[in-house]
Amino acid sequence: MQKIVIIGAGAAGVSAAAALRQNGFDGQITVLGEEPALPYQRPPLSKAWLTSADTPRPTPIRPAGFFQDNRITLERGRKVVRLDREARQVTMRDRGAIGYDKLILATGASSRPIKVPGAGLKNVFYLRDLGHAAALREALGRADCRTVAIVGGGVIGLEVGSAAIAQGKQVTVVEAAARPMARVASPAVTNHVTRKLKAEGVAFIFNARVEEIMGRNGRATGLRLVSGAQVPADIVVAGIGALPNVGLAVQAGLGCDGGIVVDGAMLTTDPHVYAVGDCARAVNPFFGAPIRIETIHNAMSQALVAAAHICGKPLPPAAPPRFWSDLKGMKVQGLGIAAGYDRLQESTSEDDDAREIRLFSGDRLVAAETVNLPTRQADLAKALRPV
Ligand SMILES: Cc1cc2nc3c(=O)[nH]c(=O)nc-3n(C[C@H](O)[C@H](O)[C@H](O)COP(=O)(O)OP(=O)(O)OC[C@H]3O[C@@H](n4cnc5c(N)ncnc54)[C@H](O)[C@@H]3O)c2cc1C
Repeated sequence: MQKIVIIGAGAAGVSAAAALRQNGFDGQITVLGEEPALPYQRPPLSKAWLTSADTPRPTPIRPAGFFQDNRITLERGRKVVRLDREARQVTMRDRGAIGYDKLILATGASSRPIKVPGAGLKNVFYLRDLGHAAALREALGRADCRTVAIVGGGVIGLEVGSAAIAQGKQVTVVEAAARPMARVASPAVTNHVTRKLKAEGVAFIFNARVEEIMGRNGRATGLRLVSGAQVPADIVVAGIGALPNVGLAVQAGLGCDGGIVVDGAMLTTDPHVYAVGDCARAVNPFFGAPIRIETIHNAMSQALVAAAHICGKPLPPAAPPRFWSDLKGMKVQGLGIAAGYDRLQESTSEDDDAREIRLFSGDRLVAAETVNLPTRQADLAKALRPV
C-alpha cells in the first residue's frame, strides 16, 4: 500500500493524515481540501473570532510547516467531484484524477439551507466556514446592524446570539422546539442557559416556525412566523443544523443513511474506503446505536481509529463523546449522548453559576454535563462506560 488520499481538510481529514504518520505509514499521503485557506479550526468562528475584528486569520489546525515536515501533500482549493471505486481514483474539478490504495472521506457537513420565501435575500447569513464567518463578522460590526434574528436555537444559534448581544445588538432567537440545544443537552442545562441568556437580553420565541423572511429592496428586514408574529431584524442568521456531505459517497454507491455508513473501524461498505468526522454515521460504543456526531472530539477520535486500522495497529480505546460551548460567560460541556436516560441528578453551586448534571438509564450513567466546571470533566469521563 503506497497511496492514501484524504478528501476534506477539516479536523477529521488533517487528524487522519497526522495519525497515519504517527502510526508509521511511510507512503504518500495526499489531502484534498475544497477550501482555499490553510486548514483552520471551526469552533472559534462562532465564538471569539466572530467578535474580534483585529484577528484577520483563523486559528490553524496545524502550523503551515506541519504538512511539509510530515511529507503530507496538502492541496487546497481542490474540490473532488467524482469517486471511481473500481478504478480506485478520484477526480478533481478543473484538474485530473489521482489514484489511491486507501481513501478516507472526511467531507464534513454543510449548513442546512432555510427553505422559506426570502431565503435568498442579501443579509441572510449561515455559519459553517470561514467565508460565512467573515461575512457575518463584517455585518455584526456595522453600526447600522442593531437587531439580529436567529433562526434555530442550537449551539451555533446560541453562540452567535451570545456574540451579538456582547456587541450590544438586540437579539431574538426563534426555535421550533420547546427549548434550545434540545439535540445535545438535557433540559437542566438548557433551562439554565435560557435563563442566563434572557438575563443578558436575548429574547427567545419557542415552538415557533418561520413562514417567511421579510425583505425590502433585496435585503431582509425580519421574520414572519407561522403564528403571524413578526420579528424585525437588520440581519437574519439561519442556524438550523448541518447536513452531511455525502454527495461523492452516494454517487459512488457507498452505503449512506443519514451519513456515510461505517463500521467500528470507520470502514464504509467498500473495504478500500473509510469515512470519518461529521460526514460519517457509526455505532458509537457509548450510545449503542448508529449516530452522526458533529464535534471536534468525534472527528479526531474517528480519524485515529481509521488511521490505526489502515496501519494494522490496535484500535484506540473508545472515549465518551464530548462537546463544549461558550455562551456569554458559561462554559457548557457534555460527555456521552444526552438521550435515552430516565433519571437526572443535578447539583448547583450556591451562586447558581456552576452546575453538574448526571443522566442515568437505570443505574448506568449515560451522560454528564457541566456548566463552568471544566475540572470535573476527567472524573466524569471515567465514570461513563460503553453500553
Ligand atoms: C461555527 C462552528 C462552531 C463549532 N463549534 C464547535 C465546538 O465548540 N465544539 C465542538 O466540538 N465542535 C464544534 N463545531 C463542530 C466541529 O467544527 C465539526 O464537528 C468538525 O469541524 C468536523 O470536522 P470534519 O473534518 O468532519 O468536517 P469539516 O470541518 O466540515 O471539514 C470538511 C472539509 O471537507 C471539505 N470538503 C467537502 N467536500 C469536499 C470535496 N468534494 N472535495 C474536497 N473537499 C471537500 C470541506 O470544504 C471542509 O473543509 C463547530 C462547527 C462550526 C461550523
